[in-house]
Amino acid sequence: ETRGLRLLKKIKHLSVRFSGGTSLSRATRPLKRKSQQPAETGHAGDAQPVGSLPRVGPALAKRLARLGLLTDFDLATHLPLRYEDRTRLWPIGSVRPGDTVSVEGVVEHAAVLQRRRRMLIVQIADGTGSLQLRFFHFSVAQQRAYEAGTRLRCYGEARPGAIGVELIHPETRRIGADSPAAVDDTLTPVYPTTEGVQQHQLRRLADSARLRVARADDPGDALLVRVAPDLEAIRFSAALAEVHTPNPESPPPADLALPWAPRDRLAFEELLAQQLSLRRLRRGAQQLSAPALGGGPRVRAFLDGLPFRPTGAQSRVIAEIATDLARTRPMLRLVQGDVGAGKTVVACAALLAAVESGHQAVLMAPTELLAGQHARTLVDWLDPLGVTAVDLTGRHKGRARAERVAQLADGRARVAIGTHALFQDAVEFENLGLVIVDEQHRFGVHQRLALRDKGRAGDQVPHQLVMTATPIPRSLAMTAYADLDLSVIDELPPGRTPVETVAVPDARRADVVERIAATCGAGRRQCYWVCALVEESETLDAEAAEATASRLAEALPELRIGLVHGRLRIDAKEQAMAAFARGETDVLVATTVIEVGVDVPNASLMVIENAERFGLAQLHQLRGRVGRGAVASHCVLLYRPPLSDTAARRLRALRESNDGFALAQIDLEMRGPGELLGTRQSGALGFRVANLGRDAGMLAAVRKAADRALVEAPELAARVEARWLAARARYGAV
Ligand code: ADP
Ligand code: MG
Repeated sequence: ETRGLRLLKKIKHLSVRFSGGTSLSRATRPLKRKSQQPAETGHAGDAQPVGSLPRVGPALAKRLARLGLLTDFDLATHLPLRYEDRTRLWPIGSVRPGDTVSVEGVVEHAAVLQRRRRMLIVQIADGTGSLQLRFFHFSVAQQRAYEAGTRLRCYGEARPGAIGVELIHPETRRIGADSPAAVDDTLTPVYPTTEGVQQHQLRRLADSARLRVARADDPGDALLVRVAPDLEAIRFSAALAEVHTPNPESPPPADLALPWAPRDRLAFEELLAQQLSLRRLRRGAQQLSAPALGGGPRVRAFLDGLPFRPTGAQSRVIAEIATDLARTRPMLRLVQGDVGAGKTVVACAALLAAVESGHQAVLMAPTELLAGQHARTLVDWLDPLGVTAVDLTGRHKGRARAERVAQLADGRARVAIGTHALFQDAVEFENLGLVIVDEQHRFGVHQRLALRDKGRAGDQVPHQLVMTATPIPRSLAMTAYADLDLSVIDELPPGRTPVETVAVPDARRADVVERIAATCGAGRRQCYWVCALVEESETLDAEAAEATASRLAEALPELRIGLVHGRLRIDAKEQAMAAFARGETDVLVATTVIEVGVDVPNASLMVIENAERFGLAQLHQLRGRVGRGAVASHCVLLYRPPLSDTAARRLRALRESNDGFALAQIDLEMRGPGELLGTRQSGALGFRVANLGRDAGMLAAVRKAADRALVEAPELAARVEARWLAARARYGAV
């Protein structure tokens, strides 16, 4: 069970508590992964489980499930990665190195050679020439099968060989002399697959699945004709046939990132389905009610009492939120702001608005570290205003936890700051009016939807605000977050000097260490040293960080070195963070646990080791830990040459720009939105065919079509939505 799923369960559970009711609404039903119906629309779609297809037993069905393929519709929309051309036989004499070819010839001789490795060499000829097949792994049976005189059909990529061209480990098939096998009449698809599922199985399944989902009165065809008349009219079933088994006369573009009508037809429908789904969610939420929040003097008092003036962007966003909160319709707002833009101030103003009208408010952070930091900041701000805030995270146990839970239940505490521990069964609120989720990119779309869902059991739900420092381009935001209103803090507090970024090869580590000495010694500033993710393993990361810390301690005996990594207990982490925040350590060696949110303004140097391994957004986040005060800050990207092209481009982009939005645009171009939104979110977005990077140009038309569909053809719209998203909604919690 994933953490996300557990969280979702807790949240669903909480929804009942919030409303105080006991009705067994949808939200309270236990979440089942395999059998739950897509209750969202009432249209389950007509999809049948893969098990109903010929020759799919439970074992194969299970493996297909690993690919996310649960129904015939899933299989029909599981698109090939690439295509092979086996529609014609090449005369052997015409094959050149680099060609991917299908050839047929008679074995002239075959021999096992013992060179550095044992290998089987088979020579075939067809009258126009001859070529060699080379196998490094082969069985005795295979060896026998290639005896002289055998007719073979081979498929593979030609390479330059010792004598003429050769095929290394080609696919081969014996052809009976009397029954010459026909060539394929379509291109051969190659699918993304998993262990235990063969290409030929996927080909067979895709064929039967797409024939099964084809129907004369296809809802997608009917809808697109009505709401997207400009789209090239290709029938759904024809588009499927074309993307699975393209006609060699009208092949797909060599670069699949280029436009391709049948696939684009499918992508358009899928994007439309996703728009429809988010809009339905939004409309559903808007039919609920929420308490009107605001009024009272404390928001003003808070802002006036700050040691700085809010920026224009902060003031604007605070006002946008205040307007939403004053309504009796639940707010659903996303605040985007680059790292260091000052989102915490905005959050605090919103919390106070809730408190002023007698409601409670919560702020949820993705990590205990961040929750702890928020708690310290907010208690400092709220205490003088006479507002009681408590923190609640997984580390609060026993008495400490019971005391906090009691204060929230009876209303002595007005604000709660914590992690998803806030959503455990025992936590009840007296009257919750506002939920804020910080750094929401760490949570999946479905967790966000679930958060909102939690009020659905009652007639009143809390307002919702989500904040993210991972800016994404507007077109993408409008698609990924079509159910949210968007506020952007597009201005940094004054007096910030942009972080100066350099890329330095690993060989010059010693220089970097000297730089640390200068920064921390004479400058009395502090420094982060971030170790790269070695593997997907916290233990290895922790070891790497420990090793780095002791090497630095040796090299810099006069400095105090702190250490945080994922394997430390949370109080040890917090102590290390707090010591760094108080200036009691000079250098903080850390894994990416410090990626989000951590705020220590005196830190002015960030060293990122193996920077080539990080994504652009993550590097920008990490770099955002410095440059938070007025002093000039620096970021050193240590890398291990040689750099790949994309890594070089990433590091260059960082050197050239400090603007998260500009970097996000570059990231979108380089990696596609899946990476940009985080795997969890793109997983939850769950596109099968569409690719937001490639298809961004369609989005305006898609939104227009969605507007029309809801008005002109709501029935069809619901069916189209259901067929693309039903399975994802069912399993989306993963
Ligand atoms: P983020 O948007 O990344 O969450 P924070 O809320 O952590 O940013 O704010 C970053 C730092 O900037 C904090 O130290 C905060 O006190 C400070 N800050 C916020 N708003 C302003 C402002 N208007 N002027 C000066 N400093 C500010
Ligand atoms: Mg923050």
